[in-house]
Amino acid sequence: MNEEELWQAVLAQIQLNISPANFSTWFKNTSILKINEGEVFISVPNFFAKEWLEKKYNKMIFQIIHTLNEEIKTIKYIVGKQEGKIINNKEEFFNNNQLEFIEFKIDRETNLNPKYNFNNFIVGPFNELPYAAAQAVVNNPGSVYNPLFIYGGVGLGKTHLLQAIGNTIVKNFNDKKIKYIPAEKFTSNVITAIRNQEMESLKTQYRQIDVLIIDDIQFLAGKEKTQEEFFHIFNNLYEKNKQIIISSDRPPKVIPSLTERLRSRFEGGMLTDINTPDFETRVAILKSKAKEKMVDFSDEIYHYIANNIQKNIRELEGCLNKLIAYQKLNNTPPTIEITKSLLENFLITPKKTANPRKLIQIVADFYDLKERDILSNSRKKEIVSARQIAMYLLRKELKYSFPTIGRKFKGKDHSTAIYACEKIEKELENNSKLVEEINNIKQKLYDY
Ligand code: ADP
Ligand code: MG
Repeated sequence: MNEEELWQAVLAQIQLNISPANFSTWFKNTSILKINEGEVFISVPNFFAKEWLEKKYNKMIFQIIHTLNEEIKTIKYIVGKQEGKIINNKEEFFNNNQLEFIEFKIDRETNLNPKYNFNNFIVGPFNELPYAAAQAVVNNPGSVYNPLFIYGGVGLGKTHLLQAIGNTIVKNFNDKKIKYIPAEKFTSNVITAIRNQEMESLKTQYRQIDVLIIDDIQFLAGKEKTQEEFFHIFNNLYEKNKQIIISSDRPPKVIPSLTERLRSRFEGGMLTDINTPDFETRVAILKSKAKEKMVDFSDEIYHYIANNIQKNIRELEGCLNKLIAYQKLNNTPPTIEITKSLLENFLITPKKTANPRKLIQIVADFYDLKERDILSNSRKKEIVSARQIAMYLLRKELKYSFPTIGRKFKGKDHSTAIYACEKIEKELENNSKLVEEINNIKQKLYDY
């Protein structure tokens, strides 16, 4: 079997294992360049394909190719038709496709990545408070909110915000010495310094800083020695009115085994949290990221992603990047069907685990009623209102049609369902208790 035949045989098997769309997206224009001492070099048309094959398909390719040629031990993917031209080809590819993927360099001195700034930071109800605090700090570092403590879940923009603060201060005050450091890195620096008896010099370095930014402080949990060193550094800077900015995935009072003195220091400044973005903000973020990358998709696609990814901006971006890769390769934007199949593995769709039975059960439990009460014809006030909430959620969360919703409740018709949804929607506008209840119910709906 020559190289060409070998690769055709491999492709034939791959084709059986993956969807036609994926096959043509990732395996079109691939070939074997050469086989040399157990290494096979596969030519791929572009950088995206290289990444995908390496990350996603390498194992499968290897298994198949190895059964056909046992001598093959490793696979290398080369962009273009020649070995050793990877970098050139990557650049060429980006140039040809006018992709604005600027490579950002992390500043050695500050550790800041210039890609994070306020121009590309979307502000919505979910993060406007931390944003406002950040603005106050960049205008007057050290004198307003000190420390500034920002907390929130994974992928919601803590690092982005912290780094944007740092980058903006660098721009506004070029005489200030700024340092960004993840708490994990800080910990390992402290451990090394202790081991090498260099703690004094480490402390001296930190004493010269004007703005200290520590990311993911929850990593200090349980690390007593590091906390102690941090406490001294913190105090020294704090007493000199130097700005300290901290992020965490949770508020100080629930960081386990955080020494009391650090906790009270953190709580002595400004505590503010990043929430989860609402649907409109999620769509706005997607659109802004797409624009940044000079692509655009249909609203249907943005809505599809925003509906499926609700709690993590990093994942929103991940989905978008997949679609961009597709678009670049095929020179055409994906349809909604292709979008669904491209993102299939990516989306842990809550819709799959949430079903109407479960929803009604959860609503019933929440209001301390029986499922059969909600499904009954009872006109008791509390039952009617729970029933309307269930109808509203069936519509909003599970996207059921009004007639279908009506049928689930003892043959009520679509107008009852429409009325229920409108009523709840109206009430949500100025009943914050109901907002909270519904949020709680939603959480339960997706949590197990
Ligand atoms: P965290 O540190 O909270 O886990 P990151 O700051 O790393 O989250 O954010 C994850 C991704 O989402 C990053 O690529 C970041 O640029 C992007 N991102 C987060 N918040 C926003 C926002 N408000 N506007 C635009 N992009 C955002
Ligand atoms: Mg982070």
